[in-house]
Amino acid sequence: MPEHVVIIGSGPAGWAAAIYASRANLHPLVFEGAETEENRVAGTLPLGQLNLTTEVENYPGFPSGHLHGYIRSAVAENRVSTYLEPLHEHPHAVTGPELMNLMRQQAENFGTKIVTDDVVEIDLSQAPYKLKTLEGNTHEAHTIIIATGARANYLGLPSEERYKNRGVSACAVCDGALPRFRNKPLVVVGGGDSAVEEATYLTKYASTVHMLMRRDVFRASKIMQERAQSNPKIKIQYFREVDEVLGDEKGGVTGIRMKNNKDGGTADIEASGLFLAIGHTPNTDFLKGQVELNDKGYIKYTTLMRTYTSVPGVFAAGDVADDYYRQAITSAGTGCMAALDAERYLAAQGI
Ligand code: NAP
Repeated sequence: MPEHVVIIGSGPAGWAAAIYASRANLHPLVFEGAETEENRVAGTLPLGQLNLTTEVENYPGFPSGHLHGYIRSAVAENRVSTYLEPLHEHPHAVTGPELMNLMRQQAENFGTKIVTDDVVEIDLSQAPYKLKTLEGNTHEAHTIIIATGARANYLGLPSEERYKNRGVSACAVCDGALPRFRNKPLVVVGGGDSAVEEATYLTKYASTVHMLMRRDVFRASKIMQERAQSNPKIKIQYFREVDEVLGDEKGGVTGIRMKNNKDGGTADIEASGLFLAIGHTPNTDFLKGQVELNDKGYIKYTTLMRTYTSVPGVFAAGDVADDYYRQAITSAGTGCMAALDAERYLAAQGI
């Protein structure tokens, strides 16, 4: 029997869709992604990008406070102990991993089925639609909600590729605490909210964090800009780009050759790590030729204020169809919309 609703992805969009679809008795099946080394390196493990962040200060409903008692009472004990940092006694805003585990638990409580696997192939040529997973299993679905999000970009330099996992990273929260980064100068590239967040996080470990920006204008929100500018450990370098990542086979990254993009001059700085925070690419490779994408590879919505894609019964939610807002709250909102759209589509089809 085909599934009524398959949801691909396990960020806020996926779980919001699952909560709504399960409460509508549609017994959704969520593919939360596979726990593979490839996904770890690409930043596409289960629970999405929020699982790679620290405190989430702008998700409504979670002012900072003593959340540990609540989280312990709400999330299954095995996930608290396996997937969450030790819960701190001091007041804090909810963290990304806490928020995602709370959402996952909420979806599971209403009967959502969860499979820890990637969908690698999809056939939308006729309904019911067919899906194939990394483990080689096949499934059919009357409706599909695509919520696979986006992943961090790299610069594309050969020297960057050479030192990936040996000093080059796109996730400070995942890698920042490694011994190689302790009390050493580090480099963060980018001028958006992510770059400020990464740089601020890294000041816990680094002696200095150089923020390299290719312009002298931040993309980050005012509050985040001020956070970077007022942090004595963050040194902001305008009009600077990475020319080459310096290092050696034994120790990995040892420095960065910076290029001044105004006058073309270069200068070497010592650094044991390079962290990229230069935007994202949508996770739509498995959809090529099946659903209409825009020129940046994001899924195209076909109707204003609906989550419809170019294929009837296939809906999109979250960052996979959004290169503009990209917030946890907007992702969760479109996840809810996609579930309601799927429910109405099924009703209209008499399924
Ligand atoms: P972003 O806002 O698109 O910023 C990307 C930054 O990287 C820009 O400064 C951009 O420079 C720079 N950049 C891009 N390509 C580059 C290259 N090849 N070389 C050097 N620099 C390059 O991306 P983001 O910071 O990941 O944020 C994405 C979204 O998530 C935003 O909506 C943001 O508000 C949200 N977010 C929010 C929070 C928070 O509220 N705490 C935290 C993280 C993310 P140019 O400006 O010159 O293009």
